Amino acid sequence: MIRCFVADLHVHSVLSPCAAVEMTPRNIVWHAAEHGVDIIAVTDHNAGDNVRAVLEAAKGTPVTVLPGMEVETKEEIHVVALFDKMRSFQEWEKVVEDHRSGRLNDADKFGAQFVVDAEDNLVRVKEEMLLAALTLGLEELCDRVEALGGLCIASHVDRPAYSILYKLGFIPSGLKLAAAEISPLIKKEDALRRFPALAKIPIVASSDAHTMDDFIGGPKTCFHMEQATLPEIRQALYSENRREVVL
Ligand SMILES: [Zn+2]
Ligand SMILES: [Zn+2]
Repeated sequence: MIRCFVADLHVHSVLSPCAAVEMTPRNIVWHAAEHGVDIIAVTDHNAGDNVRAVLEAAKGTPVTVLPGMEVETKEEIHVVALFDKMRSFQEWEKVVEDHRSGRLNDADKFGAQFVVDAEDNLVRVKEEMLLAALTLGLEELCDRVEALGGLCIASHVDRPAYSILYKLGFIPSGLKLAAAEISPLIKKEDALRRFPALAKIPIVASSDAHTMDDFIGGPKTCFHMEQATLPEIRQALYSENRREVVL
């Protein structure tokens, strides 16, 4: 049976230096369940160390967690990469490790990067600087995500910082981009008016939450489909098999 799955495909955890300390696995999952969010993607900057913990924290709850990451390309464009399975996500983590800047994080300046377990306990502090561009270009990044069965969504395209539309001014044809995400700052109709390039690509709305207030109050997208899986999300984005996206 097709029904609406409320999804937020862009949520940061305490691994992101800019995220609040309350963004822990159990807390995120609990608030998702409490507020009727069926699907969340954990999308920390250039790393996925907390993805397993959030998946584990969601076991036995109605919340589906998709492994994800918000990647910063060589061109300083943010892209949310989503995966269906941990196995392919782990492959993706290896790709990212090979393309990091090599610099270390300055926690006083940018914030600390906490790796935690499914009970919200601190496991370690991640040393690598996550808020930095990878040495991987946009086109290659999307190709490699797709090759692993993943899906790329351009982050917060309406915001000036790190947006594909502000950096390039257009969406290159042939780029393996499944959708564009609009930020909490804008409605779909206004986004389409301001950025004509969006007419050619499916649009989703996500919270890009760095705090629990962002998450609870932020926009969500309703995916009409049968199951909470990435292949169904892909079908919904392209309105296939009666699946569809409603903002
Ligand atoms: Zn971003
Ligand atoms: Zn983000």
